[in-house]
Amino acid sequence: MATKPLFTGNEMIPADASVLFDGTDLSKWVHGDGSPASWKIENGYTVTQKADIHTKEVYGDCQLHIEFWLPLMADSFGQARSNSGVFFMGFTYEIQVLDSYGLDSKNDDCGALYSVIPPMVNACRPPETWQSYDAIFRAPKFDEAGNKVANARVTVLHNGVIIHDDVEIPHPTPDHNAADPKEPGPIQLQYHGNDVRFRNVWVRPL
Ligand code: MG
Repeated sequence: MATKPLFTGNEMIPADASVLFDGTDLSKWVHGDGSPASWKIENGYTVTQKADIHTKEVYGDCQLHIEFWLPLMADSFGQARSNSGVFFMGFTYEIQVLDSYGLDSKNDDCGALYSVIPPMVNACRPPETWQSYDAIFRAPKFDEAGNKVANARVTVLHNGVIIHDDVEIPHPTPDHNAADPKEPGPIQLQYHGNDVRFRNVWVRPL
């Protein structure tokens, strides 16, 4: 029996992917209090506002595709410049979203595993252009006694350029002292006060 093709033509999304946001509705997302995701939707994208959103579904090992657009904030700098973030396993492991165009990337710049590992290279496009992350995330592993036997790992392509090559994430990125989660968790997008846009979000559990 032939395997069902992932592509039958020029599709941009493989047939086995779960589409989390197609530009029209956020029905697969909620806020932290469980209320429906209320971010504005227009012109095929959503704009961060009010609070973070996360998927209703939970994921462990997975491949994620997401596109983002950062407003030009010429009078803001550092972490105040078009900040957001893409998180795995809830508010646990962040790939930073920030306008870091042209900078010498530090561990809090765009593409960084926030406050832990800077990107291998600064692959940012300028603000007000669409950018992409493709990430292969591996959840931390535990033995039967609940001891961690493998750190979380991630490979990330930023605009098609590899910026993390199967690197270990030794601990959660917002709180370095927090425990690594033992169970799968949602994918979370950060509201950090800036009008960051997202579109074309899909995931493939691995
Ligand atoms: Mg952030």
